[in-house]
Amino acid sequence: MSGPQCLWTIDGDAIWETDCGRSFVLITGTPLNNKMRYCPYCGCPLVTNERVDPGPPPKHPTRGFAGLSPERRREIARMGAQAAHARGTAHRWTPAEASKAGQKGGSVSQSRRKVQ
Ligand SMILES: [Zn+2]
Repeated sequence: MSGPQCLWTIDGDAIWETDCGRSFVLITGTPLNNKMRYCPYCGCPLVTNERVDPGPPPKHPTRGFAGLSPERRREIARMGAQAAHARGTAHRWTPAEASKAGQKGGSVSQSRRKVQ
């Protein structure tokens, strides 16, 4: 040992064995993650071998689109686009069309309401 310090080594998932012969359970992270600078048992500066750094657990597990791989996401997006085209609901706007629609203003929403 180089100097007075207490080496903590992780043993199992959350149990830390201390240099001074104690064991300490940390639910998440490392002692340093939890702002433990000194061993609470012997008072020596706390050091870890940092062999395993589990890090903070993800607070929000990724769901849905976010949890998918980019490839899968693209695939699904493509399928959706194809389905929209098949139903005839997809519309590709040109700048000219868009400005024309913009000029019509309120009449567009009125005529659309009658159709639906
Ligand atoms: Zn200690």
